[in-house]
Amino acid sequence: MTTTDENDIATRLAAVRQRIRDAELTYGREPGSVALLAVSKRQPVSALRTALAEGQHAFGENYLQEGADKREALAAEAIEWHFVGAIQSNKTRAVAEGFDWVHTVDRLKIARRLSEQRPEGLPPLQCCLQVNVSGEASKSGAEPAAVRELAHAIAALPNIRLRGLMTLPEAVSEFDAQRAAFRRLREQQAELIDDGLALDTLSMGMSNDLEAAVAEGATMVRLGTAVFGPRPEKQP
Ligand SMILES: *Cc1c(COP(=O)(O)O)cnc(C)c1O
Repeated sequence: MTTTDENDIATRLAAVRQRIRDAELTYGREPGSVALLAVSKRQPVSALRTALAEGQHAFGENYLQEGADKREALAAEAIEWHFVGAIQSNKTRAVAEGFDWVHTVDRLKIARRLSEQRPEGLPPLQCCLQVNVSGEASKSGAEPAAVRELAHAIAALPNIRLRGLMTLPEAVSEFDAQRAAFRRLREQQAELIDDGLALDTLSMGMSNDLEAAVAEGATMVRLGTAVFGPRPEKQP
């Protein structure tokens, strides 16, 4: 027997996959070129299990303790764990030790610590440099003008691998405005690739703007509510 919640997640996941396929088709993207990261912050372990049973293996977490609890509960499963929360420099070790990917590197100090603290024997930590394309004082991410130098410095670190850029733009509802922000990230990535950096990931697009992100070249969309429904108020 499955509960209503489980059916909901299965239904939502199928709908989200269809949305991604439709967007790929609409915007001339290679079918299957946009990966889905299921952002499971504040969702219970049971929700992740349901998504796993539906073939979803990449999960994004924002909070370190919650992420550690979930990794422990799901240790037997083949899961790729992505950290998508804000990183304080005294918390880098937990990220370096516990995650496969981190999307929110926005300064060199953090990147250096992640590289130093990545345990031997694990593959390099897969990183995206977060860029503030909206220019809002309140949003984290590197300033666009700083990205080039930062990206080269991060790419040179031994135990992390820079895969590309990430952004969490200002929430706007107008499609063209959404696209404009994502276009800026794509153009920055293209500049870095011209410089010779081997980047293959553009982490952009959430539940409300995934079509605009796919139109501008997203390779990984980060979806929470579209997959799991509204987030519970309290951490599980
Ligand atoms: C919560 C979160 C998401 C998912 O947001 P939804 O609007 O629920 O799809 C994506 N990226 C980051 C960095 C987040 O913190």
